[in-house]
Amino acid sequence: MEILENASLEDYSTMRLGGRAAYLTKVADRERLKEATTWAKQRQLPVIMIGSGSNTIWKDSGFNGLVICNRILYYQEEPIGGDANKTVLVKVGAGENWDKVVERTVSRGLSGIESLSLIPGTAGATPVQNVGAYGQEIRDTLVSVEAYDNESGEIVIINKEDCGLSYRTSRFKTVDRGRFYITMITLQLRRGDPVQPFYPAVQNYLADHGIVNFTPQTIRDAVIAIRQAKLPDPVLVPNCGSFFANPIIEETEYTRLQVAHPNLPNWPVGNGRVKIPAAWLIEEVGLKDFHDREMGVATWANQPLNRNQSCFPSRTNVGLRLQEHKSGGIWTNPPAFWKISRSYLPGSSALTVMLAEELRSPPCRHRARAQVAVVADYDGLFEANHNSLTSNTLDLQSTNREVNLRIEGGRRLHGEVTLKASKNAAVALLCASLLNYGVTKFLNFPRIEEAIRMIEVLESIGVKVTWRENNTVELRRPKKLRLENLDEEAARKTRSVLMLIGPLMQDHGEFDIPYAGGCELGERTVKPHQYALEEFGVSITATNNRYIVKVDKKAPGEMTLYESGNTVTNNTILAAACTTEETFIQAASCDYMVQDLCYFLQKIGVEIEGFPSAGLHLS
Ligand SMILES: Cc1cc2nc3c(=O)[nH]c(=O)nc-3n(C[C@H](O)[C@H](O)[C@H](O)COP(=O)(O)OP(=O)(O)OC[C@H]3O[C@@H](n4cnc5c(N)ncnc54)[C@H](O)[C@@H]3O)c2cc1C
Repeated sequence: MEILENASLEDYSTMRLGGRAAYLTKVADRERLKEATTWAKQRQLPVIMIGSGSNTIWKDSGFNGLVICNRILYYQEEPIGGDANKTVLVKVGAGENWDKVVERTVSRGLSGIESLSLIPGTAGATPVQNVGAYGQEIRDTLVSVEAYDNESGEIVIINKEDCGLSYRTSRFKTVDRGRFYITMITLQLRRGDPVQPFYPAVQNYLADHGIVNFTPQTIRDAVIAIRQAKLPDPVLVPNCGSFFANPIIEETEYTRLQVAHPNLPNWPVGNGRVKIPAAWLIEEVGLKDFHDREMGVATWANQPLNRNQSCFPSRTNVGLRLQEHKSGGIWTNPPAFWKISRSYLPGSSALTVMLAEELRSPPCRHRARAQVAVVADYDGLFEANHNSLTSNTLDLQSTNREVNLRIEGGRRLHGEVTLKASKNAAVALLCASLLNYGVTKFLNFPRIEEAIRMIEVLESIGVKVTWRENNTVELRRPKKLRLENLDEEAARKTRSVLMLIGPLMQDHGEFDIPYAGGCELGERTVKPHQYALEEFGVSITATNNRYIVKVDKKAPGEMTLYESGNTVTNNTILAAACTTEETFIQAASCDYMVQDLCYFLQKIGVEIEGFPSAGLHLS
């Protein structure tokens, strides 16, 4: 058994990203597989089995364990039953190239998997996510899988019924993740021609090409032609295949949507529900081949492509905008964003890809079932994984932890509570007070750490701050701010110093402000601010522990935010308030802290229309 050390994982993922594996080996039979797992156990190393990496994205940090590449080859047909050899069991080694298997069965006149043509990867991986395409899934023909059980050390046979197969998932990628190494799959195919109805795209292709002879081969040819016309070949353009799950909605909902979108494609999935292709939605909202400015990953149909990226983490910043008027409300309210962020949900180490608005807006769940793709963080491996918000439960695969929120109402509330003023709004207002050359007086102001830190920063640059009764605070800015005296210690304790950039650009052509040195937030957090403020002629460079800001003022007219965050929206509003021109800000946050800032600016003479909504007009 040959074990490679410090092996590059780039060649083991069609996305061609990733760090290194501490150890990597290829196994061609069960004995070598047992040997490899024993070797890893003796060294207490984690193990992962892969096929050809077409559904795998490695992290830059790589995999600190043993990667076992399954290369077990085997193919055997066995006619069963008394129906003149019509039913055939096909046993396939897990390491066989899947498309070669389909090609072979089709050439033998067998039906059942012809629509699964051209899916990259190995046969052994097909049950893992219950692969499917063009109306067929592996569970339609799978009889059983043979696997090495890492817990018992035995080879076991698992019948289809026990594989937990459903839409793009199985027990192998959920509850029993990492436990079974699949060595062989058994399929039950039928000698004879496939029967209609075919998947709409296939049906259309056959009709358009005048094909009336429906054989496994003609269906395979049709599927290959369709796939090749719209999906990039991973050998030529690195990609990891479909990423977003297809939304499944009620037929009644579909009928309603069809009025506005007569061409809305669908595929019945039973129980009065239909599936809508995610690719169609993505095309409809104009995101086909969308390039994020930073990550260089494009969305082609629903596939993220790696166009020019050499490392993984920067992908996490992408925000893809979807607009309701185009997508017909299937996914979202305007403005909605696909948020891709680490630890988006508290307590989760998952990299979650979610339509944030869907989570926040319960009516959406009833209008249509939102689909979120969750990419589980699994010992150095990211794997596309699909989940749906069918109930009030969001299952976080990586932790096997469920988040349930249930609010039981119907009871009369009574009593008294004293509301605390909001810290987030308070710090934004403190920054905004710099735009008022008179006296600013805030009533019921929260005496909270971050607000106090910001007040210390303001005092250090010359703002006179006086506390009065009932938490009223008065701020009086000097004509000229003394930025050179800025209290670095206080500034480093609050991330809100970012919001000083907008007001300071009013009077300063060049300045720098400190932020918490070494804090991971630095480079990543500042990006959306950079993009927004550069529209106003501001350039921000985040160095090790300072933001260096240069201003060559200009008015953007109309602009769209890269990310509709609260702080970035506030910073943009503050910058817009410094120009004498009109500014239209699209994709703004409608949060209360943004509204508070707008009310304040209105009081000091800035005309603002549109809030609370995603489109703001300042003059
Ligand atoms: C261009 C493109 C198009 C695609 N089209 C489709 C499509 O139409 N439909 C679809 O369903 N998928 C599609 N995919 C996804 C992918 O091809 C399938 O999921 C495929 O089955 C993955 O095979 P693989 O050998 O590359 O798996 P890998 O990426 O190597 O592994 C995927 C997962 O399976 C596990 N695994 C792999 N082999 C084994 C084994 N023998 N035993 C236990 N666990 C194992 C791995 O640990 C990992 O968790 C597409 C991918 C690409 C790049």
